[in-house]
Amino acid sequence: MTATQIVDLAIIGTGSGNSIPNERFDDRSIAIFEEGVYGGTCLNVGCIPTKMFVYAAEVADNAARGDRLGVHSRVDSVDWPAIVNRVFGRIDPISAGGREYREQRCDNITVYSTHVEFDGRDDDGRYRLVTANSLVLADEVVIAAGSRATVPPAISQCGAPYYTNNDVMRLDHVPDRLIIVGGGYIAAEFAHVFGALGSAVSVIARGPALLRKLDTDISTRFTTVAAEKWDVRLNTDVTNVVELDGGGVRVSLGDGTHLDGDALLVATGRRPNGDRLNLASIGVDLDDHGRVVCDPHGRTAAAHVWALGDVSSPYQLKHVANHEQRVVQANLLKGWDADDLVWFDHRYVPAAVFTHPQIATVGLTEDEARDMDLNITVKVQAYGDVAYGWAMEDTTGFCKVIAERGTGRLLGCHILGPQAPTVIQPIIQAMSFGQTAHEIARGQYWIHPAMPEVLENALLGLEI
Ligand SMILES: Cc1cc2nc3c(=O)[nH]c(=O)nc-3n(C[C@H](O)[C@H](O)[C@H](O)COP(=O)(O)OP(=O)(O)OC[C@H]3O[C@@H](n4cnc5c(N)ncnc54)[C@H](O)[C@@H]3O)c2cc1C
Repeated sequence: MTATQIVDLAIIGTGSGNSIPNERFDDRSIAIFEEGVYGGTCLNVGCIPTKMFVYAAEVADNAARGDRLGVHSRVDSVDWPAIVNRVFGRIDPISAGGREYREQRCDNITVYSTHVEFDGRDDDGRYRLVTANSLVLADEVVIAAGSRATVPPAISQCGAPYYTNNDVMRLDHVPDRLIIVGGGYIAAEFAHVFGALGSAVSVIARGPALLRKLDTDISTRFTTVAAEKWDVRLNTDVTNVVELDGGGVRVSLGDGTHLDGDALLVATGRRPNGDRLNLASIGVDLDDHGRVVCDPHGRTAAAHVWALGDVSSPYQLKHVANHEQRVVQANLLKGWDADDLVWFDHRYVPAAVFTHPQIATVGLTEDEARDMDLNITVKVQAYGDVAYGWAMEDTTGFCKVIAERGTGRLLGCHILGPQAPTVIQPIIQAMSFGQTAHEIARGQYWIHPAMPEVLENALLGLEI
């Protein structure tokens, strides 16, 4: 029998969507739907666990490379189960606690731990949300359904075992040989983690370089560094995978070669989950990338249905999903037709790759700026030429700053090297608040001899 509930607000997805109800929503009845693990991708299978593994990898990597500094250290062994237990022993209770809080402490909220889809509207105009055994009628809906890992048919249809970010972090041991398919940031982060913790890593990428969407100099340098420690196969793809007798897989490549590995990790991109919501029944479209179409306030084509995060955003990043959640939350309180709705701010969206070396980026790449015919000045500053990078004897790190000639308007910044995601923040701030290159170069102190001096020198080197 189908149980029916009528609510003011329904929220699909408990990643950033779970942060919408706060005390300002106490007077609304709310249904929250979650078909996976409570708390969504970032907490359970994304940003947080990966960075906890990255931190362990950094410790191992530093220990293994101590000799050159006169610190005779080495990695005796990696206790992978202990690392996994540390990560998920901390994360799993947060996820369980989040669900418990909503279920037991929020009188106005009902949690449905199941898949949900739209089924048009009822005679009163409420949205019909159907699960396997319930019907929820909602006046207003927030679609915060995120994205999922895509797996190329050449792999999924072979029947051979493979992992994605959903399960690779719960392996029971570090594979001796790990094959990673994909050339993007998730592949780069896992290659670093498993490589530093003991796997011989192979990376298979379709394109001519890794991290191809980034500034060309960053992508080129990273590919070079990566090829020195991992077996990097470029310009090829997977044509077949077979499970080997006695365990492991054989991966056949488009270039006619093959690789044998103990485990296969697929990191070939993520697809928004809007295709699994029957959105056609409420007249909401997906764009060419599969994203739910919404306006800069988060409003979809269906009145009182909002969207945020990976399911609709051009940026599949947690800080963007959180920002969009705050915008939709504010707009829900203002009302669908309010004339003071707030906007998604996608002007200067930064991103980082927590691989080795670390990478951070904001704004236009040099190629994008040139394609736009902007009159630009570009300065590339090596880490090794500023005090802290020199102290570390860093040989690969650099920062590239791009500004407009004449005005000093900052257009982009791209960093590869230690602490890159932290070092870049002054540029994100300057771009967001309209400060120019020369204002931030000389309008403040830069702590000596700290890593951000690499930025200071790059800014001073621009020919404005
Ligand atoms: C390995 C990895 C590492 C990452 N690292 C970073 C990082 O370092 N920094 C960064 O900024 N971003 C990172 N990201 C991206 C980041 O995790 C996402 O951008 C962010 O979590 C998206 O949040 P969201 O709320 O839009 O979706 P999600 O957190 O994915 O939440 C959506 C939820 O909706 C549920 N759902 C979907 N459809 C339905 C349905 N029909 N019915 C019921 N429930 C449904 C899903 O189960 C899911 O739990 C990483 C992602 C991955 C995979």
